[in-house]
Amino acid sequence: MNDCKARHLGAQKLAPETQMMHYGYKPSLSEGAVKCPQFQTSTFVFDSAQHGKDFFNYASGREPLPPGEEPGLIYTRFNNPVLEILEGRIALWDEADDCLVTASGMAAISTSLLALSKPGDVVIYSEPVYGGTDALLSSILSQYQVSGIGFCSSEGAEGLAKALEQAKAIGPVSVVFLETPDNPTNQIIDIRACADLIAAVEQDEKPVFIVDNTMYGPIFQKPLEHGADVCLYSLTKYIGGHSDVVGGACSGRSEVIGKIRGFRNIMGTTMDPNTAWLIMRSLETLKVRMQASSSHALKVAEYLRDHPTVEAVLYPAFLADDDPQAEIFKRQCSGCSSTFSFAIKGGEKEAFAVLDNMQIAMLAVSLGGTETLIQHPASMTHSCVPEERRAEIGIGENLIRISVGLENPEDIIADLEQALAKA
Ligand SMILES: *Cc1c(COP(=O)(O)O)cnc(C)c1O
Repeated sequence: MNDCKARHLGAQKLAPETQMMHYGYKPSLSEGAVKCPQFQTSTFVFDSAQHGKDFFNYASGREPLPPGEEPGLIYTRFNNPVLEILEGRIALWDEADDCLVTASGMAAISTSLLALSKPGDVVIYSEPVYGGTDALLSSILSQYQVSGIGFCSSEGAEGLAKALEQAKAIGPVSVVFLETPDNPTNQIIDIRACADLIAAVEQDEKPVFIVDNTMYGPIFQKPLEHGADVCLYSLTKYIGGHSDVVGGACSGRSEVIGKIRGFRNIMGTTMDPNTAWLIMRSLETLKVRMQASSSHALKVAEYLRDHPTVEAVLYPAFLADDDPQAEIFKRQCSGCSSTFSFAIKGGEKEAFAVLDNMQIAMLAVSLGGTETLIQHPASMTHSCVPEERRAEIGIGENLIRISVGLENPEDIIADLEQALAKA
């Protein structure tokens, strides 16, 4: 009989890709259906008034959940079977105690930063950071007297050390937020070295260390293993993987995830059950999709590296052995995802000529889908970053970002060949 909570078979610890087909789902509760049905409902019936009272007491934290009891289903903004199964499955990939899913990646970021910060606090973040995160930190959180201090991802842990020093004059640090490898320049930050710096901060409450793992996770990087407190995703990218849904997630220790969940349930940034169901389906193919697109991207990156019109390929597996980032990459990542950037000879005009002539790759932002997407960071995803700052962090007018999909890589190479010939 299938045990929906099995994580071992005898002495064998089951791999996450095995468990994506069963974990957390009990067929006997759903007429024997092999697949978890959609629970397309906004609310749930209580067995008795006492049950309803108990469920509310547990959900609000007025009473602790008795050992061995499950928190009852109340209302889909708080919980739903599909959401709970999806959360359990994402937690398995990250080897986390707990996980929560949200309506978008930005919902995961904004809900966590608001849940963990109060007026007077400082949030430290690496740059470049996702555009929405940048806008949240630079214009929205300042309305609530939460200030942001950025540091260049190329400076790594040393940059964080300087930012922590700078924060001392402003206020306590509530959150340190990293994106590594960064997007679009693929600089690698040492998560372990940052965790050590954060552990040494002298404050009443230690800063919470969040890593946005959208670019490499969970297949090629597991930040919790290297000392992060929270591993965060835009599920819209590789995990959803088909460019058809928007979602987010955070996983980590129960107490920090519980705090963020409390905010999510009240602010209403919960994921809807239909999206959760689609993402659960995506999880069954996550590993094969990420491995295949990664091997395709390697072929495309190798082709570009040897192309006379290409100035540089920003791809971590190509780091020279004596580059200090090469050692961090080897220790922290088990491979490269399929999104990387390359600089061509010339500027915006030449970059646009390549983009406008691609026949198979689609000219669109986002990444991690089954189809190849290509875009120009300086004028699109990172156009909000002031020009001088873009130059400092390496987002030139000649930089192109590509997210290689599941097409035959030779076809993508042929597409680049004809488009580069026109630049
Ligand atoms: C896309 C993205 C986000 C935002 O996610 P949404 O699902 O679009 O809200 C956050 N971080 C990174 C690294 C991203 O690529």
